[in-house]
Amino acid sequence: MRVLVVEDEKKTRDFLRRGLAESGYVVDTADDGETGLDLALLNDYGCLVLDVMLPRRDGWSLVRELRASGRHAPVLFLTARDAVDDRVRGLELGADDYLVKPFAFSELLARLRSLMRRPPALLPDVTAVAGLTVDHTRRKASRDGRTLHLTSKEFALLALLARRPGDVLSRTQIVEQVWDMNFDSDANVVDVAIRRLRRKVDDPFARKLIHTVRGAGYVLDADREEG
Ligand code: CA
Repeated sequence: MRVLVVEDEKKTRDFLRRGLAESGYVVDTADDGETGLDLALLNDYGCLVLDVMLPRRDGWSLVRELRASGRHAPVLFLTARDAVDDRVRGLELGADDYLVKPFAFSELLARLRSLMRRPPALLPDVTAVAGLTVDHTRRKASRDGRTLHLTSKEFALLALLARRPGDVLSRTQIVEQVWDMNFDSDANVVDVAIRRLRRKVDDPFARKLIHTVRGAGYVLDADREEG
């Protein structure tokens, strides 16, 4: 899951980036509201964490623009003080929750998880493909009732493929969603991870689900023949 943090205070921004990355999220950051809005319009984020007072464009204005362009990613506001007006204004403008600084990281994580569970109409919590079950909320996967023991990256990769069965995903698309790095920096990383994932998801079973599409990428498909 990809998260955007917009915070002009370097210390808080670095703290959030590190903590969220350690918790398995892919994290993008911006230090002003204008850059934050550009990123939020460009990428698909599972959640946005926004400081209210930001240079160039404040958090409220960012959310207003985002909603006006039809983006519905949940937003968690960070407010500098326990100001009731801030909260009310943020919630009126389409923020989904707020947290007063200073906050405990565990609290932020709990709020984010709860926010990201909210849109079940768009993203089902569990996807099932030919005996493979991926529970996105509990971050668990099984095949034919057998639990698959996956690392957090392996799970993220499987979850991405399982959400779009039959769609070929390019290596670039996969890297952007699963790793926080520039594709050119290590083109091999996806292939290596797919190989590891196949060992757990496909090798013990007769029917193969993860397929390589030469020159295009990877697809999770129960009906495709390996070629
Ligand atoms: Ca600020």
